[in-house]
Amino acid sequence: MNHDESRDLYDRALSVMPGGVNSSVRAAVEPYPPFAQHGDGGHLIDADGNRYVDWVMGLGPLLYGHDTPEPVQAAVQSHASEGPMYGMPTEIEVEHAEFVARHVPSVEMVRFVNSGTEATVSAVRLARGYTGRNEIVVMQGGYHGAQESTLVEGDADHPRPSTAGIPQSFSQHTLPVPFNDEEAVHEVFEKHGDDIAAVLVEPILANKGIVMPEDGYHETLRDLTADHGSLLVFDEVITGFRVGGLQCAQGEFGVTPDVTTFGKIIGGGYPVGAIGGKSEIIEHFTPSGDVFQAGTFSGHPVTMAAGLESLRYAAENDVYQHVNALGDELRRGLTEIVADRAPAYTVAGTDSMFKLLFTRDAADSFDEHCEAGCRQRADCPRYDACPKHGADVAAGETDRWRRVFWPQMKEQGVFLSQNQFESQFVSYAHTEEDVETTLEAYKEAL
Ligand SMILES: *Cc1c(COP(=O)(O)O)cnc(C)c1O
Repeated sequence: MNHDESRDLYDRALSVMPGGVNSSVRAAVEPYPPFAQHGDGGHLIDADGNRYVDWVMGLGPLLYGHDTPEPVQAAVQSHASEGPMYGMPTEIEVEHAEFVARHVPSVEMVRFVNSGTEATVSAVRLARGYTGRNEIVVMQGGYHGAQESTLVEGDADHPRPSTAGIPQSFSQHTLPVPFNDEEAVHEVFEKHGDDIAAVLVEPILANKGIVMPEDGYHETLRDLTADHGSLLVFDEVITGFRVGGLQCAQGEFGVTPDVTTFGKIIGGGYPVGAIGGKSEIIEHFTPSGDVFQAGTFSGHPVTMAAGLESLRYAAENDVYQHVNALGDELRRGLTEIVADRAPAYTVAGTDSMFKLLFTRDAADSFDEHCEAGCRQRADCPRYDACPKHGADVAAGETDRWRRVFWPQMKEQGVFLSQNQFESQFVSYAHTEEDVETTLEAYKEAL
């Protein structure tokens, strides 16, 4: 593959943008990232005209691939042509909020913002304002955007900022625990229960994974938070309107959080975030309450139109059936391939999410193993070795993934997400043929 044009663009970019990109993970592939030129259904064409099957899908938002359905396109164009935005409320915001409240079990009210990060920032402030407490419990390896309260590593006894630029004193209010570890979270509540404003958790670890919750884990979080007067906040920025269809992961798992953060798919490909929950809690945002929250672009009419029409289209067509069936095929195909060629590796994912985790020493046996992605089944022969939390995923063969595997997949025309930790996504535009091409490429690269 020729990448001259991308290399030249990257060279120019390095002079005017830090690291040559506007979001770090885009530059994670070496020696430089292919620059996107345009999309075509489930495919991407780069600046040099190379065509790929694209499983990045904008890192989550593109439920329809690169060709939005006709009603979505029409709604976007009509709202854009009427003038981009107003600084006043519009009908389309109300309609979108009504749609979300109608379909997501825990949601009665919604505040729209402009990114997933803004959503989690506001949710944390809301939880602190609502409870009058400071501490936030998060999962090690969980991701909630680029915000001060959650860019924290270490453990509950020794939290520290995970980046330069955050005062140590901020991170002291965040208590990281390992995902799926009931004992750890019980301990934190025994010690700090009266000071904990919220537990903030992705229903499925999707930025350091994919890792599914063990049976009963979210129920434990639900009980502990309820018993201690803390809020349970589900960060459904990735899983929202992807896992479990329109009811989201909370509907699928049958666990009702107090507050939910959204992003990605609910904006139909445009910048978005949202915080939803019971009215009694969400009404604590200004102007109805005393927790300040605001944004010039919040509830942007073009974004609202794109998001709402995308979800309406999913409600009226076989969208989730299609993407989930292809996701299933991918995960089943991958399971057969790794059983043959890389038995230590773990196939992960559910619905339209998939990832192959380069775990080092899972049991060799694939008998009775989950056939379409690890489900954390306690009776599985691989149970003891399959990743349970972020550190297990991080302990994999990340160098092999980055130096050998990703470039080989790219050379075969299959574009995977840019590091070993981010999920990959199936869209409505992907086809059986894309799945076959991709499985063939995995076979070669493994
Ligand atoms: C992407 C993501 C965010 C941050 O959203 P941005 O729109 O990138 O700010 C927050 N939480 C989760 C779970 C995410 O996947």
